[in-house]
Amino acid sequence: METRAAYTLKGGEYQNLAYEMAKSRFIKKPRRERARDYMDQMAEDLGGACYICKEPYKTSKGKRRPGMAFTIHHLYYKADDKTWKDFNTRLQYWKYLQPLVHVEKEDQFILLCRSHHKAVEIMARWSRANFGRLYNAVELTRKGGGSG
Ligand SMILES: [Zn+2]
Repeated sequence: METRAAYTLKGGEYQNLAYEMAKSRFIKKPRRERARDYMDQMAEDLGGACYICKEPYKTSKGKRRPGMAFTIHHLYYKADDKTWKDFNTRLQYWKYLQPLVHVEKEDQFILLCRSHHKAVEIMARWSRANFGRLYNAVELTRKGGGSG
């Protein structure tokens, strides 16, 4: 009985342990920073939908939409602006970018869905003349009864 007693907590110790366990369960630790929280804020500052197709960033219930990747697109870079290449993680980059987006909004940035970001990135490299002829080609194709 004596050896067993050595492993038994005394009244005060037991209370203390019970308190520590309850505390760890009910007192929330500060939530981990998440990259997507910064993205949510930027998307909201930029109108909450793709600039081109108006696809909403969130569902009508305010939830993030799984599988929909949106991009913060720079309309131009200022001399001292960093790019994602200057950062190791998405969290670090978006944490840097979020306050800039909040200040400049659509003067410098637009929100784009994945497919329209691809399109803009490609066409932004084209000459204006080629872009104009592409536009004409698209218009003519629709008039000719393209597949849509
Ligand atoms: Zn779009």
